[in-house]
Amino acid sequence: MSDITLGQVEVTRVEELYGPVGMTPEVFFPESPKHKWDEHRSVLVPDFLDDETGICRIAVQTWVLRSEGRTILIDTGVGNHKERPYAPFWGHLELDFLGNLARAGVQPDDVDIVINTHLHVDHVGWNTRLEGQSWVPTFRNASYLMHKADFEFWNPANNPKIAGGVNQNVFEDSVAPVYAAGQVTLWETSHRIDTALHLQAAPGHTPGSSVVMLASGTERAVFAGDLLHSPFQIMHPEHNSCFCEDAHAARKTRGEILGRAADTNALVLPAHFTGHGALEVERSGTSFGIKRWASLDRL
Ligand SMILES: [Zn+2]
Repeated sequence: MSDITLGQVEVTRVEELYGPVGMTPEVFFPESPKHKWDEHRSVLVPDFLDDETGICRIAVQTWVLRSEGRTILIDTGVGNHKERPYAPFWGHLELDFLGNLARAGVQPDDVDIVINTHLHVDHVGWNTRLEGQSWVPTFRNASYLMHKADFEFWNPANNPKIAGGVNQNVFEDSVAPVYAAGQVTLWETSHRIDTALHLQAAPGHTPGSSVVMLASGTERAVFAGDLLHSPFQIMHPEHNSCFCEDAHAARKTRGEILGRAADTNALVLPAHFTGHGALEVERSGTSFGIKRWASLDRL
């Protein structure tokens, strides 16, 4: 099963790719000591940590929401045919993501809203597709919601450090064409989508990182983007990934969002979890624990 219903909102998990990410915990989570990972092996192996190679595993996936008659995508993966000189494993892909989306009942023109939780390489890829030599919006009828702080931060005209890093070319091929087409709505602090859903700024991982909060009937959920890359960070929210821009803010935001999820019994749906993909969390001293996994099939 790849979908669940939360109140009046139907949630479907559509994968782009999953598997080893090429990084050991020491590289992916640079400040985390090995003994802490050993403590949680039973939770992490095999879905989130490969036993043989010691490499972390992640999924790149899109959460499809159907809410109040509209179709909403949260994050759009890596995309096909992109030139990624500093992330070669994500360059020139030819994956059947649009086929996976179609099998979930969604054609590109059906999409009303695209949410990019932030503007990293693996969250904006399918914003566009290659048509001839040009990048054009994949979802022609959609409004794309982006946080203004990320839109400004990841524009290479404002940030020369992007050249030579994993996000090189990303703004140009996956953000700018959608903006030029007049399909981008920039927001700050918070943005209401409908009666069940709103976006909330969750800075740290990137300046404009955001989460999608769901409240429908008695159900609560938070689509947590890259606040978490591994369940390890539920037990150890103090440990950032190597991709977090502002270490202090990332830790603080992670703790706040997990705390709110624990206190409101909200389902937590991070961008990159393999396995069952989503879970409920509970407070455990000053940290958190896994209460129960969602009923989604394991990837
Ligand atoms: Zn990511």
